[in-house]
Amino acid sequence: PHVAVETDVAIIGAGPTGLFAVFECGMLRMKCVVIDTLEAIGGQCAALYPEKPIYDIPAHPAISGGALIEQLQEQAAPFAPIYLLGRRVEALAPHEGGFELRTSKGEAVRARAVIIAAGAGAFGPNRPPLNDLHSYEATGAVRYMVARREELRGKRVVIAGGGDSAVDWALSLKGIAKRVTVVHRRPKFRAAPESVAQMEAAAARGEIDLAIPYQLHGLRGAGGALSEVVLATLKGEERAVAADHLLAFFGLSMELGPIAQWGLGLERSHVTVNPATLETNIPGIHAIGDIATYPGKLKLILQGFSEAAMAAHAIHPRIFPGEALHFEYSTSKGVPAE
Ligand code: FAD
Repeated sequence: PHVAVETDVAIIGAGPTGLFAVFECGMLRMKCVVIDTLEAIGGQCAALYPEKPIYDIPAHPAISGGALIEQLQEQAAPFAPIYLLGRRVEALAPHEGGFELRTSKGEAVRARAVIIAAGAGAFGPNRPPLNDLHSYEATGAVRYMVARREELRGKRVVIAGGGDSAVDWALSLKGIAKRVTVVHRRPKFRAAPESVAQMEAAAARGEIDLAIPYQLHGLRGAGGALSEVVLATLKGEERAVAADHLLAFFGLSMELGPIAQWGLGLERSHVTVNPATLETNIPGIHAIGDIATYPGKLKLILQGFSEAAMAAHAIHPRIFPGEALHFEYSTSKGVPAE
């Protein structure tokens, strides 16, 4: 495989604890790569509640999820972490005294130690249970996100879902796509009221079709090319909508996924660790944050921060064998200039 990076520590997960681990490793002169399934850093804070205030981050009486991540990124920046985003770590195996990770993009990442900061697992879209879904996903006929609106120019698009993503994309695509149909199982949308009002006004002008109350029922087409999306009411009344694309916005879910296959000690979907070192049953692989469990574990960001520091100290002798680690405060050491 193509070796994308060789480094000291590979951190799986760019949530708050993974980001702070970059800082703690950096203070001990250990270089890091951070890999995340999502296209953006920040884990749950950025993906699930960027605007919600958090009240239990020490010295921040209130800070939003998004702002916390920005600050953590800034704090980690002097140590020049390499971010590999938009890829899931699929495999982790020993390699020449360290480890080799394989990502969903087919690359290899080599590191002498690993910190798993994977939260509740990798985020992925909630998929509708439809026939031949996989073949339509493979061609991009069915999508869960839109990278470039232009790809949908002149296409017939069915948008499913009742939240902000569905409403915002309906508004955003109405002048670009040939036809936009929004499918939702009930009249009420869980989205910003102003956006819902705009969508309803656009529907009244005939710029958007609303298919309510309908649910997705099936896909028709051939060879991964979509021709119709079949909808049904709860009573089973069916209706087919001509479509080139289905955009399904049913939220994100988290699954432990491949991590369960790596031979790590697990307890109810969490990785068991030694609380003094955060080391798993495999020497050199540590786990911190929401994914780690031990007696007394609290699933709080502040506890994840402390675990990042302890894991970094425990990893140091592996990266710098025989070198004494003198404990120092950040105030006496300073951070490198960016
Ligand atoms: P996460 O933030 O879950 O990040 C893990 C990352 O790992 C994800 O981005 C995921 O995509 C990635 N990942 C997983 N598996 C893989 C893989 N195989 N390959 C690549 N990437 C992978 N905590 C508090 O302390 N105070 C609060 O007030 C608070 N409020 C909250 C409010 C809400 C609505 C929610 C949902 C949570 C709240 N939490 C709060 C909990 C807090 O967000 C979590 O404890 C914290 O995000 C855990 O951080 P983490 O870095 O361990 O994992």
